[in-house]
Amino acid sequence: MAEQLIISISGMRGIVGENLTASVAAEYGCAFGTFLKETSAGENKKLSVCIGRDSRPSGEMLKSAVTEGLCKVGVDVVDSGLVTTPGVGIMVRELGCSGGVVVTASHNPAQYNGIKLLLGNGVAPPGDATEQIKQYFLDKRFALVDSANCGQVTSNDQTDTTHIARVLAIVDKEVISARKFTVVLDSVNGAGGRVTKKLLAELGCVVSAVNDEPTGLFAHAPEPRAENLIGLCEIVKNKGAEIGFAQDPDADRLAIVDEAGTYIGEEYTLALAAKYIFSKKTGKAATNLSTSRMLDDVAAKAGGRVIRTAVGEANVAAAMLEHNCIIGGEGNGGVIDLRVSPIRDSLVGIALVLQLMAETGKTISRLVGEIGGYYMSKDKFAAGKSQAEQILKSATKAFTNAKLDTTDGCRFDFDDGWLHLRVSNTEPVMRIIVEAKDRGTAQKYIDAVLNIRKEISG
Ligand code: MG
Repeated sequence: MAEQLIISISGMRGIVGENLTASVAAEYGCAFGTFLKETSAGENKKLSVCIGRDSRPSGEMLKSAVTEGLCKVGVDVVDSGLVTTPGVGIMVRELGCSGGVVVTASHNPAQYNGIKLLLGNGVAPPGDATEQIKQYFLDKRFALVDSANCGQVTSNDQTDTTHIARVLAIVDKEVISARKFTVVLDSVNGAGGRVTKKLLAELGCVVSAVNDEPTGLFAHAPEPRAENLIGLCEIVKNKGAEIGFAQDPDADRLAIVDEAGTYIGEEYTLALAAKYIFSKKTGKAATNLSTSRMLDDVAAKAGGRVIRTAVGEANVAAAMLEHNCIIGGEGNGGVIDLRVSPIRDSLVGIALVLQLMAETGKTISRLVGEIGGYYMSKDKFAAGKSQAEQILKSATKAFTNAKLDTTDGCRFDFDDGWLHLRVSNTEPVMRIIVEAKDRGTAQKYIDAVLNIRKEISG
């Protein structure tokens, strides 16, 4: 069966040439432009959208198509070319645009591409806005304009410069540069290589860059997970580098390899960045319900606390803005620092981790050791909507000893761990995320859920 085109809170995603074509992209551009016009009606200003793309070979075609769609409904377009997702987020605000578009399928395999939308505050549209845009797209309800009112296209090449300046402003360049860190960077031939190499050069690092050509021909599966970064681990070890960094194709996620060539897991990226931030000040952090308790531990040591949100970057960013959080992000290696922008940014993660190493003089493995750790399991199983609802109901009855949060599915907090059950936005599955002090304890909670599922299935 052909795969469906997905439109969710993360934007549109499909397979190029099958369900994601130039005409689909143009219509999605029309729908987004129409939405921006309707939501700004009465403001009497010419709307503009900043657009960029990651390195996938279909990027230029789809960017042109979305641009065409936006111009058709009278929205101006600022073309930033081949840039990262956080880069577009920063430029939307820098240029005072009404919205942003990134042509990227993030960490998905090469046959995919996608269209990620941002509002004028640099954050992805919330659920109700996403639904509205989707409806305009499906109904082909577009606010087309005549030739005199067509949108105009201009180019802008200031993304890297602006992005790097914003990141350098949150760290001490001199302190990091003095250490002359040896770094291996793997950008998976995505959009991150060019700007990240410039940032690392500014920070005085001695860099070995691999897969740094933005060809979109991914050198390995693009999600920065352990199984895809065996090559990076070997290079870090063989070169005797102090740290290895891996980005996903649009450079909003960051994974770290320690000086022994060990992949430390994406959950540590946010915990390490937070460790630095909380060493300087105290306050609130925000993350989703599926992210490790390590962040709570780091915050608690500094007298801070963590706000938990539904899964989805837009939800975390909204909570950060509302509560004025000093750090936030997601356990998938996404770090958000509002001083740079309300969007996950691997360059922010890199800078904060290097600052932590520089100030403490400690190796990355020692810093990881200080944070400690838990056993974590992320899994999923097939479950239709009604079955998923029944499972949630039965689990609520079974785990009466836990503190329950129903913001997004059910999260149960026990003394010795936590369990998060949620229905996927994009596929008919239930996600089951467990974190506990050890594997046996985690398995106890997983088994309890699997038993509930068995009973329901009869
Ligand atoms: Mg990404």
